[in-house]
Parts: sequence; structure tokens; C-alpha cells
Amino acid sequence: MSELSHFQFHPRCKELKLTHLCFADDLILCSKGEFPSVYLLLQAFKLFSNSSGLLANKQKSAIYCCVDKMVARIKVWSSRNPSYTAIMQLINSVLMSIHMYWAQVFILPKKVLQEVTKVCRAFLWSGQAYSQKNSNISWESSCCDKKQGGLGFRDVVKWNITSIGKYVWAIASKQDNVWIKWVHAVYIKDGDWWEYKPVASASWYWKKICAMKERLKLVYTQTKLAAMPHYSVKTVYEKIIGPKPVIRWDNMVWNRLNIPKHRFVCWLAVQDRLQTTAKLARFGVSNTANCLICGQADKDHKHPLFACPYSSRCISALKTWLGITYSTGNLKQLMRCIAHGRMSKFRKQVSFAMLAAAVYDVWSSRNGCFWNASFPTVQNMVARVKQNVRDRILVVLPKNVTRRDSLWFATL
Ligand SMILES: [Zn+2]
Repeated sequence: MSELSHFQFHPRCKELKLTHLCFADDLILCSKGEFPSVYLLLQAFKLFSNSSGLLANKQKSAIYCCVDKMVARIKVWSSRNPSYTAIMQLINSVLMSIHMYWAQVFILPKKVLQEVTKVCRAFLWSGQAYSQKNSNISWESSCCDKKQGGLGFRDVVKWNITSIGKYVWAIASKQDNVWIKWVHAVYIKDGDWWEYKPVASASWYWKKICAMKERLKLVYTQTKLAAMPHYSVKTVYEKIIGPKPVIRWDNMVWNRLNIPKHRFVCWLAVQDRLQTTAKLARFGVSNTANCLICGQADKDHKHPLFACPYSSRCISALKTWLGITYSTGNLKQLMRCIAHGRMSKFRKQVSFAMLAAAVYDVWSSRNGCFWNASFPTVQNMVARVKQNVRDRILVVLPKNVTRRDSLWFATL
């Protein structure tokens, strides 16, 4: 079929002259996404089906145009000027759909997965599918769990190879199936699986499985791997990426009472990664490195919130509003003081929501100052934060708030 003049390869498969990937009872057919090629592909499949008696299960079949489809989806979204919350949700759903289905069944070409990562990363930092914009935080850190300071995304490349570890585990734990018998007969023979090395003429897929075994050997012994009652990709993935330092601000940043669009900016601020004027100046976007609101030098990342007279006045007014008396010079410390403070869980949550709102509003005012040369007065800013926090909490008010706390809230 691939030699017929009307047939054209999928753009990414041209070089390898790849028309199909086949594993166990799954089959991926690939061609250029146009009628003559797809028609020829289906004809060839029908011929195979008629002569072998094997049929495709229509419910489990899908036409899959991984990267192109994803880019198309992101393009639609980027034209709507999405919020960070929407961006994070979309990236998660794109990555999850790849993880949940495709990456579990097949070894996907690394190039495709790297392209997926590139698009997701550009979308996160610029709202566009393609962008050269620098990211404030590495993709690796974004791919950590929220408890470890990340955004809870997963690294598709690592996830994909981890899911292939299922076959390493199946052999190690001596699963009773035809495939295991077959690999023993053809490849391993009487050898020891853990020490086995593939011969040069072995298939590409088999070599990938053996390479994954070498990786697993770094974190598991054969006995430990074989002892797993079933193979959990998630557990092994976490083991492979290794332990990450546990941070203590995740429940403040991702607090349920926070206004959703404030969370991402708060996530950056708590890590001192919020774009400052000094940074904009370094990229040549702004012609001054000084704070656009107060005109003072912006030497470090501490300026935007606590060293700037404008924002520190806003924050101290808001602290007074909620009766917070801790005086600290940075956001992380202030959050920690509140977290350890002697007040009810609800009051702590309201305080975090207020801080996130203050961070967001100061940040967006500073941006407004850059683009429109105007910013709200301290009084207006404080009033706006109060209003936003009250409105939000009324919507998501937890059911188990005590009478004392609800009376307190009513006085705000
Ligand atoms: Zn300032």
C-alpha cells in the first residue's frame, strides 16, 4: 500500500516509512490526514481483516491526530484570552488524555511527546500554542505534585516510559500469559531476566522494554518489583522522579476559598517568581528597572509586595481588616505565621484568600501602570480586595463554619 502513488505518509512518519504500530491486540494506523491516503489505509486493513478473520472493535477505535488536534484546541482557547485557571485545566486535560490512554498502551515517539510538552509549556506561559517567551518556573518543577510546589502536571515522556515498565514487572513477577511465554521462548530463553541484555537484532519495542528494566533496576530490586500485586504507573513514576522537598505553602496557595484566578499568581509570588519591573527591564520590555508605582529601585523580588510603600500600605490595611498582627517582610513567612497562628481554620482560610487577592491586585495594578500609566489609590485597592474576598467567600462558604466564625465574617 505504501508504494501506491496515492498514498502519503503521516508527516511525522515519512522518514521511517511508518504506516502502523502494533502491540498485543492494539493497532495504530497512520497516514496523511486526507481522503485518498485514509481510504487506502482502510482498504489495506480490510484485506488484512478478511484474510486473518480479525476485526476492529469500533467502540475502541478512534482517529487520533495527537499534536495537531491539541494545537487546534489550544488555538481556539488562546483566542478567548483564557485565565490561568482555564489554561491549567486545559493542559491537565490534554496531558491526562495522553497519559490515560495512548501513553499506557504504546511507546509514543519521543519527538511527539516533546512537541506536546513544548506546546503545553508555551500555552502556560504565553496563552499561545507557540511562543519563545521565557517561563518563570521550569517545566520540571511545574510537573511536580502540588504538595511539592508544582502545578500537578505530569511529565509525558517519563510517564510514557514508566508505563512500559508494566512489561518488565509482568516478566519479573512471572505473570501467566502467552506473551510472557513467548518472550521467554524467543528472547530470554533460560537466562535470568534481571541480568538479561537484548541482542542487537532484537525488535525496537523489545529493546525499549529492556532499557526500561535498566532504569527500574536503579530504584527497585527484582524481588521488590515482583512483589507488587499489580503495576501502578503512578507509584513507579513517583519513585523514578525521586523524592522532592516538601513545601508547606500548598494549602495556602490552592486554598478552596481563594478566588481561582488568584491562585496561579499567588503560586508565583510565594516562590518569588512574579515578573518584576527589573525583570521586564532586563528583557528590554520596560525602559526602567524601578518600581513603576513608587519609583524606587526594585533590587530584588521582595519589592513588589513588602518593600514597596504602595503595596505594603495596602497589605497592612488589609491585615488590620482581618485582625492579623504578625509583621513579616515576606509573603511565605506571613502565610506561615497565619498557618501556625491561634485562630480557627475558617479565619485562616479567609486570611489566605485575602493575601492571594492582595497579591493579585497589586500585581495587576502594576501591570496596569506599565500599560496604561495609571493605578488605583491605596483606598480603592483595599476596598476592591475586601469586596472580592467577601463576594467569593459568600459563594463557597463551608457548611461547618461555627456560629462564632460566621458572626465574625458578617462584621467584615
Ligand atoms: Zn514600589
